Amino acid sequence: MAHLTGKKALILGGSRGIGAAIVERLAADGAAVTLTYGSSQDAAEALAEKVGAATVQADSADRNAVAQVIASQGALDILVVNAGVLVMGPALELNPDDVDRMIDVNVRGPYHAAVDAARQMNEGGRIVIIGSVNGDRMPFAGGAAYGMTKSAVQGMVRGLARDFGDRGITVNSVQPGPVNTDMNPEGGPMKDMMHSFMAIKRHAQPEEIAGMVAYLVGPEASIVTGAQHTIDGGFGA
Ligand code: NDP
Repeated sequence: MAHLTGKKALILGGSRGIGAAIVERLAADGAAVTLTYGSSQDAAEALAEKVGAATVQADSADRNAVAQVIASQGALDILVVNAGVLVMGPALELNPDDVDRMIDVNVRGPYHAAVDAARQMNEGGRIVIIGSVNGDRMPFAGGAAYGMTKSAVQGMVRGLARDFGDRGITVNSVQPGPVNTDMNPEGGPMKDMMHSFMAIKRHAQPEEIAGMVAYLVGPEASIVTGAQHTIDGGFGA
């Protein structure tokens, strides 16, 4: 099943949660993986050692830092932008600096990383950005800014798919619903409210999201592009 053997993959934000599961899955599928981390150095290094990946520290809010990492990779086959932050709360009370940093990490980061990576990507390369079902649907108060960042991912995926299609490079987003990570633990206080919107009333596990990413970066998905792939237990149905 090592169908990514010979492929070079960069995962931005691969130290914990969904990103860590993507690192594990793509490494198991045979890719040579480099992962970035922001602040979780120990987790990143332990994961890298476990799966035989390389690590680089790079703050995804810092365009130049990410550009440097991408430039150092040479020709990439796969870019996955997973790094993301969640700032939620009443719009009238949120700290505007926190909102701006979320926009930096969730919107400016993925856009510039995708463009920079595409400059040096091999023909048939794959770009996947982790969005959210909240890009489609925000069924409670307090999520306007986060939902806005994930709707922005949709626009960049549609547009960049057209920019890079002539080189066979695909650009897609994966839109999870609730996933059991530090960001959204399955035992957290919001769980019953979130499950009330779902057809299958449970959090996904990070490995389930990694499975969809593995499909999108694999050989069967070369005609899949410009699309948002929702995996949310029916949260947005
Ligand atoms: P976690 O908070 O559990 O992990 C976030 C990951 O992103 C960590 O590896 C973290 O690295 C990295 N990261 C965050 N900020 C930065 C930064 N500035 N620079 C570099 N890396 C950074 O989140 P999840 O795994 O839950 O979320 C991953 C993605 O999935 C996000 O884009 C999120 O919006 C999205 N998502 C999550 C859902 C959920 O329910 N969990 C639902 C829908 C979408 P480090 O600790 O090293 O800084």
